[in-house]
Amino acid sequence: MDEAKVGAFPARARADFMHEVANTPRGRGVLLCIQCGRCTNSCPVARTTDEYNPRKLVETVILGLRKEVLLGNLPRYCLSCFTCLDRCPQGGDIGEVMFAIRNLAAKEGNVPEGIIVQAKNLFETGRVVTPTRMALIQRERYGLSKDISIGIDEAQKILKKTSFVELISKKV
Ligand code: SF4
Ligand code: SF4
Repeated sequence: MDEAKVGAFPARARADFMHEVANTPRGRGVLLCIQCGRCTNSCPVARTTDEYNPRKLVETVILGLRKEVLLGNLPRYCLSCFTCLDRCPQGGDIGEVMFAIRNLAAKEGNVPEGIIVQAKNLFETGRVVTPTRMALIQRERYGLSKDISIGIDEAQKILKKTSFVELISKKV
């Protein structure tokens, strides 16, 4: 028997990958998929590019092609519009599954540079985006504090406890 192709599975497949995704918070929907393709027909991203197709993505997960899913650009296409949830006859929420996949990809170090910059801002300032001068003027107008350092300690405590800091420091 050709060991590179045992049954329908390519040699690089990992049979446990589907369960790795399913056991991640938000990843359970992957177990419900019957590969009908309704999600792809309604996905606004799939209409504009051949590179992303939610049905095919789930198939790739089911086939155990972990590297293909986690190490490339696939985790980045989904817009989280959740149209696929409305259309799925199984109630499989691919928009949610994409969050699970993004989290696993991040653990593998696959995080876009722009997200790392925002993550570092969040750790250093307690905010993803530093308020503009105009935003500070408006805060003052509404009687809010102009001191944007409030809450940094609390934010950092949460980010340290959730291993967020280790994750972003791998990319610094
Ligand atoms: S609509 Fe649901 S069941 Fe059909 S392929 Fe998409 S995720 Fe799978
Ligand atoms: S949530 Fe993502 S996969 Fe689902 S329809 Fe929207 S863009 Fe497509």
